[in-house]
Amino acid sequence: MKKTVLKNYAKLLARVGLNVQKGQEVIISAELDQPDFVLLCAEECYRAGASKVRVEWTHQPLARLGAECKSEEVLSEVPAWQEEKLRCEVHRLPARLYLESEDPDGLQGIDAEKYARALQARQKVIKPYRDKMENKYQWCIAAVPGARWAKKVFPSAPAPEEKLWTAILRASRALEGNPVANWQEHDRQLEARCAWLNGLGLSSLEYSSSNGTRLRVGLLRQGLFAGGGERTLSGVYFNANIPSEEVFTSPARGEAEGVVYSTKPLSYRGRLIRNFSLRFENGRAVEAHAAAGESVLRRILSMDEGAAYLGECALVPCDSPIHKAKVLFYNTLFDENASCHLALGAGFTNCIRGYENYSEEQLHAMGVNDSMVHVDFMIGNEDTDIDGVTDTGARIPIFRAGNWAERL
Ligand code: ZN
Repeated sequence: MKKTVLKNYAKLLARVGLNVQKGQEVIISAELDQPDFVLLCAEECYRAGASKVRVEWTHQPLARLGAECKSEEVLSEVPAWQEEKLRCEVHRLPARLYLESEDPDGLQGIDAEKYARALQARQKVIKPYRDKMENKYQWCIAAVPGARWAKKVFPSAPAPEEKLWTAILRASRALEGNPVANWQEHDRQLEARCAWLNGLGLSSLEYSSSNGTRLRVGLLRQGLFAGGGERTLSGVYFNANIPSEEVFTSPARGEAEGVVYSTKPLSYRGRLIRNFSLRFENGRAVEAHAAAGESVLRRILSMDEGAAYLGECALVPCDSPIHKAKVLFYNTLFDENASCHLALGAGFTNCIRGYENYSEEQLHAMGVNDSMVHVDFMIGNEDTDIDGVTDTGARIPIFRAGNWAERL
């Protein structure tokens, strides 16, 4: 890929993704195989005013080796120095850029049960620190093509990495024109869509599709739809996902009834779950089936009390560039932006009107689901219809045949 295009992409991530502030620290998390692009990102962060950029390198084969060779006890521990590091981050609130390039199958075959239990144990220690940082710092997840990932997405292409670069940059509106300006325009459109939805006074969404999906999800009285950029509590505007096509909200915990069918495979920590369905009763997933990976799906649901409840309803039209690209990325950042989706687990406390006036506990008490996991899964396709039902019982078409029912 041309250096100028990559530089513009790095600039997009530093300026629009993170919106690095003067004097702020930045932490970049990336795989070892991406030194050139990480360097470009660090340059752009410094140019934007970062006081210090630190990189946390990871290497998936090494993570895999650790998962295989370490005892569960060792895998589960959060050493004191790591807690100290978390305390330091709570205090200094660095902006965080996560660059994904891993092989979607990279952890295939490891002892998933052991891995999940260890993760669960670590999360118990880590979560209180994460909660303290919630809504206080800018972060952005974006992608760069790793060799194995590219081969998985484009198995027969002569130059799969180049092809995946093109797909990533096109989806991120960073292949043509001025990516920063492209995003500012895209953010404006998403904002207009949110304003429309938030003005309707919806109390529930009803999904239906020819694959058998019939699901009603209750919405929170004080809930808001959000999309595109968001603000930290101190008012810094940033984009947590590049790309992002979704308009989403946090549904009311305990109010989901019916059955929903997945429309794309779910890649969860290197394992694939295919053709699955979930049945909800009083908001809780009480039945789960999958053609492949059913044990992984069940493991997700049992991670903690909140893991079997919904934390997100996201609306993505079929005319979005990622859906139209018809590429299965095997990566949630992209695949979630190809279709309407739901998420199991944690909801978004900042989807509550005036959330800054409440504590995290109060927001959860209002009905925002709490969990250590947040797992998106795709449920939209070309014949998805969604109705919104208002407080007074009026029905409003929100989606028809996979697209917004109303043009704005
Ligand atoms: Zn989402």
